[in-house]
Amino acid sequence: MGETTNDSGGPGGDSDRRIGRRALLIGGAAAAVGTAVLARDELGRLWWRTPGVEKPRKEGEVDFRGADWVAASSANWRRADRPDDFGIDRVIIHVTQGSFRSAVKVFQDPGHGAAAHYIVGQDGRITQMIRELDVAFHAGNRDFNERSVGIEHEGFVDRPEDFTDAMYEASARLTARICARYDIPVDREHIIGHVEVPGTDHTDPGPHWDWKRYIPLVREAAERAASPTPTAGPTRTAGA
Ligand SMILES: [Zn+2]
Repeated sequence: MGETTNDSGGPGGDSDRRIGRRALLIGGAAAAVGTAVLARDELGRLWWRTPGVEKPRKEGEVDFRGADWVAASSANWRRADRPDDFGIDRVIIHVTQGSFRSAVKVFQDPGHGAAAHYIVGQDGRITQMIRELDVAFHAGNRDFNERSVGIEHEGFVDRPEDFTDAMYEASARLTARICARYDIPVDREHIIGHVEVPGTDHTDPGPHWDWKRYIPLVREAAERAASPTPTAGPTRTAGA
């Protein structure tokens, strides 16, 4: 689960940093031109290419096909333009310590100060609440928030029966897609638990989360998605 507002992942100071990065990039580009003269239209083009210029979005759009969209409160995430402004190289696994509904509810609550991109239910349903473009406050560490996608799983860390087959399989498909999208290696260095985020005091997903099962499931899902269907070739089945 997420963290309180005062964690390093929370709001505050972010716009300064983004402007800083942007200014730095433009400064570097101007230096490369090697002259103090930088035509206005040139500058315009550079602005277009620099981070912070947002991709088009559609209300209700999801990044994972099959996910339902329920918007989190905008207080629980920060608008960004990933992976152009911040590269994504981690998937962070959480456990909600509550029901699916209660997780949706707290992520909609502006006072909560935290939310993840996705929630996976014990029945395998997936709800997306924050776009992958944006930085969700879920890791309690600003650097890790900026570089990761956060996935919550419905259940309690001390209840092994909460981690159902349906949940593992749905989550593995989701993580496989995220890894493919951003070219993230499917391994334990890049798919980590909240507990492994530097500086966190959270323990999720806990000792009952079965990494030895999960990582191969993600690999299988990635291979299935990458390889052609067993009946390769033109499909003639009517209504397929
Ligand atoms: Zn967590």
